[in-house]
Amino acid sequence: MKLVKWEECGCPLCPQAGFSVFLPLPLPAADSCVPPPCLKKCLGCSLVFLSPRPTAASMHHFYPEDYQPYLEDKLPANEGKIPKGFQPPEQGGTLLDVGFGAGKFLQRMCNAGWKVTGIDFSAIAVAQVQGKGFEVYQGSLPHPQLKGRQFDFVFLRQVLEHLHDPHAALCHAATLLPSGGKLVVSVPNLNSLSFRWFRENWFGIDFPRHLFFFNKKTLAGMVERAGFQVLEIQPVRHGKWIWEAAREAVRNRRGGFTGRLLQNRLMSGLAASIGIWTGFPEGLQLLATKA
Ligand SMILES: [Zn+2]
Repeated sequence: MKLVKWEECGCPLCPQAGFSVFLPLPLPAADSCVPPPCLKKCLGCSLVFLSPRPTAASMHHFYPEDYQPYLEDKLPANEGKIPKGFQPPEQGGTLLDVGFGAGKFLQRMCNAGWKVTGIDFSAIAVAQVQGKGFEVYQGSLPHPQLKGRQFDFVFLRQVLEHLHDPHAALCHAATLLPSGGKLVVSVPNLNSLSFRWFRENWFGIDFPRHLFFFNKKTLAGMVERAGFQVLEIQPVRHGKWIWEAAREAVRNRRGGFTGRLLQNRLMSGLAASIGIWTGFPEGLQLLATKA
């Protein structure tokens, strides 16, 4: 039986502000948590977060050895694809990938000429990627091993939403960059078509691994508060997330006609494109520079 401890929390940016219930969640039958966990919205900055949430020490229960991002052969072919415009400078460039998972992005960036370093809180992921000769460390930000280091780029790809204190992690990322250094953050977008359609069955809920739920405004707000200037926020297409949410909703008898329709890969792919065209994409990718 899992011995998971739960804790209530507030907004990390505005501890004095109150919050309202944003979305109640169904609690897995095996866990006992009182009051039941739900998504809450900060009345100060509108950030949405999970509360109660598992304590940091309890989180390992939710990252088993077969957690998909650690399994290279289970990842989609485009995982770790190099974003547009990320060619290294001629004299070479350095980057830190926070939460490298199976290490595909590290591998691709290394092949493209970057000098790469990674951290991940999974011992399994670290052992796996260390075996390929990469400089990687176990842990999260802030990380003692990185003290005093400087990188040209810090990447947090699908990581920020998993952290207990994402603001502290961003502040630490700022210390690892020189003035003008770049930060890239990608997260699921709460302001997406599939959240509107599927609510508690939305792929980005990932209960209880996801602790924060961002839209453009709350993501930019947190990044700016950590000492960055936001340069752009790009929409990111994730047809598979819509497909997964539709399947989950139908399994839970909540999907309705939309759920049944979007179980078709072609239709969920089309829906992802509509999300991009209408300004409600599934994912966001933010590029910022250290002020
Ligand atoms: Zn707030």
